[in-house]
Amino acid sequence: MTDSIPDRAELVVVGGGPGGYTAAIRAAQHGIETTLVERAAVGGTCLHDGCIPSKALLTAAGIARDAGAGEPMGVRAAPTLDREAMVEWTTDVVTEMARSVEKLCRANGVTLVRGSARFVDSATIAVDDEPLGFDDAVLATGSRAVELPGVPFDRPDVYDAADALRLDPLPPSIAIVGGGYIGTELATALAAFDCEIALIEAESGLLPAYGRDLVRPVKRSLDAAGVDVRCDAPVAWYEGGELAIDGGESIRADATIVAVGREPATENLGLAAAGIETDPNGVVRTDEGHRTTADGVAAIGDVAGEPLLAHKAAAEGRSVAARLAGRPTPPANRSIPAVVYTDPTIATVGLSPDSAPDTGFDPRIGEVRFATNGRAATRRSTDGFVRLVARDDGTLVGAQLVGPEVEELIGECALAIDCGATFADLAHVVHPHPTCSEAVMEAAENGLGRAIHSLNR
Ligand code: FAD
Ligand code: NAD
Repeated sequence: MTDSIPDRAELVVVGGGPGGYTAAIRAAQHGIETTLVERAAVGGTCLHDGCIPSKALLTAAGIARDAGAGEPMGVRAAPTLDREAMVEWTTDVVTEMARSVEKLCRANGVTLVRGSARFVDSATIAVDDEPLGFDDAVLATGSRAVELPGVPFDRPDVYDAADALRLDPLPPSIAIVGGGYIGTELATALAAFDCEIALIEAESGLLPAYGRDLVRPVKRSLDAAGVDVRCDAPVAWYEGGELAIDGGESIRADATIVAVGREPATENLGLAAAGIETDPNGVVRTDEGHRTTADGVAAIGDVAGEPLLAHKAAAEGRSVAARLAGRPTPPANRSIPAVVYTDPTIATVGLSPDSAPDTGFDPRIGEVRFATNGRAATRRSTDGFVRLVARDDGTLVGAQLVGPEVEELIGECALAIDCGATFADLAHVVHPHPTCSEAVMEAAENGLGRAIHSLNR
């Protein structure tokens, strides 16, 4: 990439991840003269070090796992994993997508500038010391991995998720510190390889942000894959191949991957010079229009706080571009889906049965297990369920799914919630047979007390 730095731009977007490049393209589509400044490559953490390479690794590992488990279906195979070819393939996918995003930026008229940006004041940034004035700016610099003081990233045998995704060869044993999103996804993928994996979580269970019934099938599958899962085990330090847990226990591992959360990337950004305030955790403060405390400067995506998800960053990018263009901004989404790409996969959106009462009502529940779903049976993937949560009048307000294809099914649930659909609406829609999507329809029917393939509550 790089165009020459203009003297001035109507809109400057700092950071070319899914938040920044979406904001830049949409603003340009609305006729705003837009410059996108990116210090590395467009696509951000999501494309280069996160969503895409991690899902490429998970797909490859999943093919190996499924092929090796085909015997009951009459398929005998002993897959071998070529780590070098896998990393090469992942790199090809990422490179091709980055090229495509860059092309889309240019085709939409966005000026792309390579360089590190910092605010000089509330109307000027410096790109590697060259000044660039703006009418409006969008800050979309994302986040970075949190470091554990006792397990610093500068050690040669300590890796963050980005390094871990490209680690080749894999050492004989790996300890993953943090059983959240990144830790459980990495353990799911790395379990397919010929190395010992320990997954160590400080809280009492994996994925502490999720309901225990959603996590149970994931834990079962990690156990079956031979992952040594330790909970209630806050890691204190790692040295000489020994990982120490607070309380005395220790684990031997040839390498350690640290995935204990992410923090806003605001270092050297000159926030104070522009009057941009952060909260005590370093998250840039914004209002519902994504405005920061500095006039004319908005912030979106990870740098503006939870949830740290690519589709949330992109949605904020579209919304801020519409506001800057003086277009009607779509109403705030009622819910943002989240997916954990484990085996089986977890997907949620909106309120859970536990969180609904906090908003003032007793939820109605519709639930079916995948054990009753024909497509799940033909895939040999029946562990899990679909649960829908509704208000008293049947209006859908939440969904929690674990099982096959749920990363695709959650889109239907999010649509239903955003459109104000009811159990009756979802039950009325004809879903194709045999598909896992029938489980969503059946769960709605269960909520109405008239499911066909499962007992009604
Ligand atoms: P980023 O994608 O982080 O982009 C910020 C960009 O700003 C970067 O390109 C950076 O180089 C640039 N930048 C920073 N400072 C400057 C500066 N001073 N000047 C110029 N440029 C700068 N989310 C999902 O929704 N689904 C997933 O499956 C998923 N998987 C993940 C897996 C992993 C291993 C990780 C680490 C994250 C994953 N995420 C996932 C989270 C997702 O990657 C982030 O939520 C998303 O990338 C945030 O987008 P963003 O645009 O806010 O920031
Ligand atoms: P996380 O917050 O999901 O999990 C971090 C885990 O580390 C927590 O469970 C925490 O209890 C544990 N922990 C903290 N200190 C510890 C210690 N000393 N010893 C042992 N465990 C410790 O964070 P993450 O996994 O780093 O992911 C960061 C963010 O990236 C997530 O919040 C998510 O938004 C995003 N992400 C999303 C996806 C997805 O959408 N599929 C995938 C990966 C990452």
